[in-house]
Amino acid sequence: MAEQESLEFGKADFVLMDAVTMPEFMANLRLRFEKGRIYTFIGEVVVSMNPYKNLNIYGRDTIEQYRGRELYERPPHLFAIADAAYKAMKRRSKDTCIVISGESGAGKTEASKYIMHYIAAITNPGQRAEVERVKNILLKSNCVLEAFGNAKTNRNDNSSRFGKYMDINFDFKGDPIGGHINNYLLEKSRVIVQQAGERSFHSFYQLLQGGSDQMLRSLHLQKDASAYKYICPGAQIKCSINDGAEFKAVADAMKVIGFKQEEIETVYKIVAVILHLGNLKFSVDGDTPVIENSKVVSIIADLLSTKFDMVEKALLYRTVATGRDVIDKQHTEQEATYGRDAFAKAIYERLFAWIVTHINDVIEVKNYDTTVHGKNTVIGVLDIYDTFPLPTTLIPFFPFFFSFEQFCINYCNEKLQQLFIQLVLKQEQEEYQREGIPWKHIDYFNNQVIVDLVEQQHKGIISILDDACMNVGKVTDEMFLEALNNKLGKHAHFSSRKLCATDKTLEFDRDFRIKHYAGDVIYSVTGFIDKNKDTLFQDFKRLMYNSSNPVLKMMWPEGKLSITEVTKRPLTAATLFKNSMIALVDNLASKEPYYVRCIKPNDKKSPQLFDEERCRHQVEYLGLLENVRVRRAGFAYRQTYEKFLHRYKMISEFTWPNHDLPSDTDAVKKLIECHGFQHDVAYGKTKIFIRTPRTLFTLEELHAK
Ligand code: ATP
Ligand code: MG
Repeated sequence: MAEQESLEFGKADFVLMDAVTMPEFMANLRLRFEKGRIYTFIGEVVVSMNPYKNLNIYGRDTIEQYRGRELYERPPHLFAIADAAYKAMKRRSKDTCIVISGESGAGKTEASKYIMHYIAAITNPGQRAEVERVKNILLKSNCVLEAFGNAKTNRNDNSSRFGKYMDINFDFKGDPIGGHINNYLLEKSRVIVQQAGERSFHSFYQLLQGGSDQMLRSLHLQKDASAYKYICPGAQIKCSINDGAEFKAVADAMKVIGFKQEEIETVYKIVAVILHLGNLKFSVDGDTPVIENSKVVSIIADLLSTKFDMVEKALLYRTVATGRDVIDKQHTEQEATYGRDAFAKAIYERLFAWIVTHINDVIEVKNYDTTVHGKNTVIGVLDIYDTFPLPTTLIPFFPFFFSFEQFCINYCNEKLQQLFIQLVLKQEQEEYQREGIPWKHIDYFNNQVIVDLVEQQHKGIISILDDACMNVGKVTDEMFLEALNNKLGKHAHFSSRKLCATDKTLEFDRDFRIKHYAGDVIYSVTGFIDKNKDTLFQDFKRLMYNSSNPVLKMMWPEGKLSITEVTKRPLTAATLFKNSMIALVDNLASKEPYYVRCIKPNDKKSPQLFDEERCRHQVEYLGLLENVRVRRAGFAYRQTYEKFLHRYKMISEFTWPNHDLPSDTDAVKKLIECHGFQHDVAYGKTKIFIRTPRTLFTLEELHAK
């Protein structure tokens, strides 16, 4: 139980609510938000409200208040679970993970950074240089990843457009000695197009704003972002990111991390190449496609350290093997534009992946001998994509369709929800079993059926999509939809308007609907096949590999293969994503989990406004009420006999100041009985379990007297 603050701030743990109802939950959430108490527990889960203003609650003083304390001893805070995860890791050699979820702008990334800062602050008392180095790199890596992976969206000025899982490795002393980052599904379509009101990735604007005149000249760039087609809609958009200052911070961070000068230069050359690519103009001269502004081609060739002819050829032709012959097939204007855009997206995505690999190379744990130093333990921090989109009723421009990327992200959310169900239930169940307490099962919706709908071999949506992608050029998005209807038409969580002709709410019939655990989401099939195949013409890979810039060459090793050698069909985007999700969930399941559930109070970024409807929706899909129920169906509170006695021994004459009973367990039993609470408790092997929060309140009141 969180240390009780005055009740004027509401209940510090939702488990303490008088009744588990939505109105009461919302009233407590609102009260705490309005009083500036942005964190509230549900047992060991932290519910976090985005305050949309800077609070003085992350400083050294606060860190010291949480350091080494038990979770319930201090008011709810991120630091409390960071410390709990750290203690579990250090005292019990447990690998732990902190899973942060919530919708865009709810505060996931900020939370993950505060957690990292906390861990950095409480470790390495011996000031070991290597530990300092690793900590510094871990902290600095955020700045670089955000520059290349974040963008201003309509919902968040600094929205992460990729999923991130970071492992921090600790030595036997509990000091960080290394780490590893996994990144998931960068939203690369943003490189070439953005929705109204949004920007491309920060890195583009940062380079133009922050790069020196000399640097921009060498990259053949001008400062004005509106000169570049790919990013020009974002040029006029106000964003709270200071692009100029950030550019310098990123350059500094890259140096600290250990990027060489030549590598940093190549990074910005790639960013510049993308800007130039967007400005290429294709047209047709007779039957032949041509590039109207060949000056841009020579700039690109220069920046990629390759030849004009090779760039031009990769943009206008495609090498195809027909039997034993190899021919150059001319693109249509449309194909050339498609190829160019795919190239721009691919080199950005590869750049991002390369940056992550580079960071991993320098923080990877080296020379750790477990036979000498004992187990190397891990804390993982998962800052995953925004959870489910708005329910259709709250979307201003109805009808609204979601795309392939959102499909993947929502599948990821289903996987994580499944994990939450398993782990939260499992943990409770295991504890009761361990302690010999009978467990009353709580029912709630098990979303495994939706996970199967998406991922099942041969039957799931991803398999059906992959089948459609096998027949290159022959299967259209509509045919894919047809196949979905045929195979999944009877599934309780799948529907499409073809199947239910009575649903006239939407104009087109190119969509399907998944009944996700958080609500219905409609996906448009448009682009599913194309995005899943994710084709990048081989010619571009060879172009990059043949560059005389060694950094570029290294980024594109597959360009080494000649056309006749490239036969194996690469895995599709959805299957790659599925595999990475399965691996992620397996990894998380092997660790002791801690959860941060982030909530966005309103869509106006206001520190005052508590938008009841928006908040309730988030509470619903995060399953917070069920979480409270599970927590309470069992026991709201549990504590070891020794600690319990330590706190409450003064409220009974039998235990104060000392007891003469055979054991602490007996002393606790005596204490409980003398106050008449025996019907509300269960005695486990090592812990006392208290069912209702009221009993604990009373104990606290007696303690305070
Ligand atoms: P996305 O899914 O779009 O990446 P997110 O959940 O990661 O969203 P953040 O980027 O962490 O959201 O937060 C959005 C903004 O909200 C921050 O830029 C900051 O202005 C504000 N914010 C979030 N958490 C806090 C906090 N604890 N204190 C002050 N401001 C905060
Ligand atoms: Mg984020």
